[in-house]
Amino acid sequence: MSRDCYVLHVPRCNCNIEADLRTPWSGRNSSRRFYGCRNYKR
Ligand SMILES: [Zn+2]
Repeated sequence: MSRDCYVLHVPRCNCNIEADLRTPWSGRNSSRRFYGCRNYKR
């Protein structure tokens, strides 16, 4: 797996905009990673 493709692979949130990989530290689901944009402020 080459991360070079990451540039071409821009993750998008449900808002259809660029999103960053976020790791929610809500405690339990700490291993649950997802892509969230600014709108995804939770
Ligand atoms: Zn979003």
